[in-house]
Amino acid sequence: MKTHARVVVIGGGAIGTSILYHLAKYGWKDVVLVEKHELTSGSTWMAAGNCSFFHSNYYCTRVNMKSIEIYLGLEEETGQSPGWHTTGSIRTADNPDRMDELGYMYSMNRCLGLNVNWVTPDQIAELHPMMNVEGLLGGLYWPDDGDVDPSSITQAMALGAKKLDAEVNQHTQVTGLTRKPNSEWSSIPIKETLPANGWLTPPACGPHRWPPWRAWKYRPSPVNTPTFCLKPSQMSSTVTPCCPWCATPIAPSTFARKWTA
Ligand SMILES: Cc1cc2nc3c(=O)[nH]c(=O)nc-3n(C[C@H](O)[C@H](O)[C@H](O)COP(=O)(O)OP(=O)(O)OC[C@H]3O[C@@H](n4cnc5c(N)ncnc54)[C@H](O)[C@@H]3O)c2cc1C
Repeated sequence: MKTHARVVVIGGGAIGTSILYHLAKYGWKDVVLVEKHELTSGSTWMAAGNCSFFHSNYYCTRVNMKSIEIYLGLEEETGQSPGWHTTGSIRTADNPDRMDELGYMYSMNRCLGLNVNWVTPDQIAELHPMMNVEGLLGGLYWPDDGDVDPSSITQAMALGAKKLDAEVNQHTQVTGLTRKPNSEWSSIPIKETLPANGWLTPPACGPHRWPPWRAWKYRPSPVNTPTFCLKPSQMSSTVTPCCPWCATPIAPSTFARKWTA
């Protein structure tokens, strides 16, 4: 394991390995990643892996487009499949204001060359038979959206980075960070002291970074990372076309709305 590096990335989730991969890709040879457990053992392991071209913001849509392009190119580069499945995705509107918003998204996405189409409530029901379309005015359908296997993506980016001479150390926990007078950082992994003269990347944007957890998580760190509070919710289901007791069709969107409220 190196004892000095230009950049030390802390955390081997989807974000940390992506940073390592991109630094290596841009020609930074002297870069190291340290992961306290194994790659993908954080929130990346739990992610559903939904990957959409959609975003309501122009620049974020371009980021999504680029990400998917990179993900799909990783297999050829590393031999590791990202586990991509094309599923398509739908965004719905149940009031005129939301229809206006979808109109903005439609023109912005079309402008970016994305495949997006207007769909009527009947077409939505056809595309997603479990959805209750009552009260909907319409929606947008992105046929090319899909999902990846977050674990495979992370492994692929780590492989790609290693091929470009980056170093990945697992079972190595950083227990402290100090800034030296010459503005280098000194991080203290369990194995040995690992100074870096570049910047340091704390584990990135997983839900574990909620402020309530932050003080505990980054107690050894002097780095003030910008964080905001999320309330993630997840609906996990097996396919049940109707309620087993009363035979009423189940509307997943109803549950989703209730759970995220
Ligand atoms: C249930 C769920 C579903 C999700 N679904 C989606 C989805 O569909 N689409 C989507 O885009 N996103 C989804 N996400 C969000 C996504 O998973 C996260 O945004 C992403 O995984 C964050 O990656 P990360 O690298 O920042 O964090 P992590 O994957 O948590 O990586 C941080 C790593 O840092 C390591 N670490 C921490 N402290 C230290 C230390 N001191 N020294 C060394 N290593 C350390 C940890 O062990 C961990 O491996 C979902 C998340 C969850 C929980």
